[in-house]
Amino acid sequence: MGFRIHFVVDPHGWCCLAVIVCVWLFNVAIIPKIIILPHYEEGHIPGALVILFYGLAIFCLVALVRASITDPGRLPENPKIPHGEREFWELCNKCNLMRPKRSHHCSRCGHCVRRMDHHCPWINNCVGEDNHWLFLQLCFYTELLTSYALMFAFCHYYYFLPLKKRNLDLFIVRHELAIMRFATLLGITMLVGITGLFYTQLIGIITDTTSIEKMSNCCEEISRPRKPWQQTFSEVFGTRWKILWFIPFRQRQPLRVPYHFANHV
Ligand SMILES: [Zn+2]
Ligand SMILES: [Zn+2]
Repeated sequence: MGFRIHFVVDPHGWCCLAVIVCVWLFNVAIIPKIIILPHYEEGHIPGALVILFYGLAIFCLVALVRASITDPGRLPENPKIPHGEREFWELCNKCNLMRPKRSHHCSRCGHCVRRMDHHCPWINNCVGEDNHWLFLQLCFYTELLTSYALMFAFCHYYYFLPLKKRNLDLFIVRHELAIMRFATLLGITMLVGITGLFYTQLIGIITDTTSIEKMSNCCEEISRPRKPWQQTFSEVFGTRWKILWFIPFRQRQPLRVPYHFANHV
């Protein structure tokens, strides 16, 4: 299965994605420069904590880029409907193409997406069957990175020993307090926003309900077999190996689950 870049042409989405990349760049440039590296150089913190910060930052960026450019599950124009599964397919009344049930037509992207959760302007892409796992990783690593950066900011002012020598630009020295206040405010805003989003995402996966289904309440009348959480997470991440749920450097392979069980509607 080759890797193809999926690119959504949407200036509004480009602006939102640019904001997220700038927030990432700001944190990854400023926090080590003002806090982490000077404290490491003066022996206040071990090198492992510095490596952990950059490791989290890289995992976060990889999840962001891949969630943004991975095809979320766009339906082909002439889909091959597997024998015996025709009853689980329906016609989209917007693009007049056949699609599996639980798909949704995204008006921003202009096509149907398999098991679509929602369209996210912050990654400028739909969140669907094939990139939902990357979106979850993005939320998870953003939470970890933001909490870690906030913890360093707190320790810098209230716990670590004062720095003896500082090799900082004059601009940063003059405005350090303002920069750190801005970074802290940004971090707290991100943390609160992502925590709410991540929580609703996890509940959605545990109950096997997409955000769109939750909003339209379409699932309340439907009796669905309850699946264990390990099964629902395995289907989203495309693997039963839990350690792989945390790795953004891999290709997702759909689990071979009988269609009527995996996509019951
Ligand atoms: Zn459609
Ligand atoms: Zn979309």
